[in-house]
Amino acid sequence: MASWLENEEILTRKGQIAMPYAWSVGEVGSRFLVGLRDEKRILGNRCDKCGATYVPPRKNCGVCFHDLPDDGWREVGPEGVVTSCTVVREDSPLAPAKAPFAYVIVKLDGADVGFMHVVRDNLEKLAVGVRVAARFREAREGSILDIDSFVIL
Ligand SMILES: [Zn+2]
Repeated sequence: MASWLENEEILTRKGQIAMPYAWSVGEVGSRFLVGLRDEKRILGNRCDKCGATYVPPRKNCGVCFHDLPDDGWREVGPEGVVTSCTVVREDSPLAPAKAPFAYVIVKLDGADVGFMHVVRDNLEKLAVGVRVAARFREAREGSILDIDSFVIL
């Protein structure tokens, strides 16, 4: 059976849509974000089987797959060491900060994994190995951006 498409091609049309959404961060994510919002504390959780401490916290250990215990919560940071960084010099509507800023991975004191965030100031001093500290926003709403940024010490 002949189709009218035999001699045609499927056309495409480019466009953009805005898609508002709500996403549950779950029990573990909620506890982490409430710690930021209400106490200006960065909470991680520790695996009682292998000892790894995660921030952001996880439901299960990424090393040994053990369920992380309810009594494994602990405060980490607010200081740490930059383990990776890249400077952003062009604004983007999806970026968490106005350029120039830097994405950084920080190994917070007391944690065993990297925590991704941003540095806004003194970018000329930014390098792997520098110590940084979390700077919290005065108005917090239960978001990762309740930490405004990390500042170089
Ligand atoms: Zn583990």
